[in-house]
Amino acid sequence: MDVVIVGGGVIGLLTARELRAAGVSVTVLERQSPGRESSWAGGGILSPINPWQVPEPITRLCSWSQRVYPDLARQLQESSGIDPEWQPSGMLLRVSPQDRQAIEAWGVKHGLKVQCLDAAAAVVAEPNLWEQGEAVLLPHVAHIRNPRLLAALLRDVELSGVKVLAQHPVRYIDIADGRVRAVETEQGRFRADCYVVAAGAWSEQLASLTGLNLPVQPVRGQMLVFDGEPGWLNHIVLDQGQYLIPRRDGRILAGSTVEYAGFDKSTTADGGAQLAGFAHGLLPLLRKCSIERHWAGLRPGSPQGIPCIGRHPAVGNLYFNCGHFRNGLVMGPASARLLADLALGRPPIVAPQDYAIQAVTGCD
Ligand SMILES: Cc1cc2nc3c(=O)[nH]c(=O)nc-3n(C[C@H](O)[C@H](O)[C@H](O)COP(=O)(O)OP(=O)(O)OC[C@H]3O[C@@H](n4cnc5c(N)ncnc54)[C@H](O)[C@@H]3O)c2cc1C
Repeated sequence: MDVVIVGGGVIGLLTARELRAAGVSVTVLERQSPGRESSWAGGGILSPINPWQVPEPITRLCSWSQRVYPDLARQLQESSGIDPEWQPSGMLLRVSPQDRQAIEAWGVKHGLKVQCLDAAAAVVAEPNLWEQGEAVLLPHVAHIRNPRLLAALLRDVELSGVKVLAQHPVRYIDIADGRVRAVETEQGRFRADCYVVAAGAWSEQLASLTGLNLPVQPVRGQMLVFDGEPGWLNHIVLDQGQYLIPRRDGRILAGSTVEYAGFDKSTTADGGAQLAGFAHGLLPLLRKCSIERHWAGLRPGSPQGIPCIGRHPAVGNLYFNCGHFRNGLVMGPASARLLADLALGRPPIVAPQDYAIQAVTGCD
């Protein structure tokens, strides 16, 4: 069996890895350079930012992925020589008393440890935060350095025999008798037994070539990185929907905005000021260090953030794995496995109905 995957972000590359591991011959067609869009731009938190509020289908994929991430990171480091810096730092949340109750109930339901810290314990956990108060710690939450994850993943899949072709934008999908015959790029036609669209925020454009109206749209997110020092921050810290993430080398990321601005990926002075204000307010040490970089990426937004993972309703050999919105890095491993299970006719790791295109689009 051979498969063509359209899109070389975290979802396309993890899907390629899963299929390759099952002996499939895989080609990834990437519009520009692999792993340089949303998957590069993200923060790398391996959890939804308000995990107790997301719908169950998201929790299911996140939980599965969280279990495999330590091994995945180790395997990728071994095969590629690039350390993706999987870091089990835990996530500290500053929340209201009502939210604290909801988080505790969610923790009990999912068998996850939730530590409620009084103000003194919160100071011990994060001595440098400006305003201290009660906090909740989710010790199981890790983060990963996503640009390194993508570099490691790319090398890993290429070493395993996956063909990754950069600068190959897919412009046309040739369909006859309910099956894709080929996808077309400026460099020529590519034929396979089966095709997967994993084109992130651009997946809707590809879906529309097949007559499908997929509710995936770009949602811009801006981020900053500060040139901090190791030890300034111990955990991911989440406050009012914004967050700081400590990298191993002392850099600290601040994120992120949520903006509906079409495919415009530019950064804005307002977005930068908002993030800098948040970061300076939460961790005053950051006031004395420079902002190394300010960037934006386009999340593949979808209704409720539930991804589309499954077969096209009318085209037998065409699958979608897209629409991961704010949680593609954490849901990626499970989404890739589920897609491979469906395409290969294996028992799926989770019940697939909630991610079926019919469920997401409401069409038959
Ligand atoms: C600021 C920000 C912060 C984030 N933080 C987190 C986080 O902390 N944790 C988390 O889990 N998630 C986070 N995310 C979300 C996460 O990054 C995305 O859900 C995930 O990267 C989506 O992966 P993808 O492979 O579907 O999309 P992408 O990485 O965008 O990849 C899609 C690829 O398809 C290619 N493509 C598009 N059209 C075509 C075509 N016609 N032909 C060929 N190739 C094509 C694109 O060039 C691109 O490389 C964040 C996102 C942003 C922007």
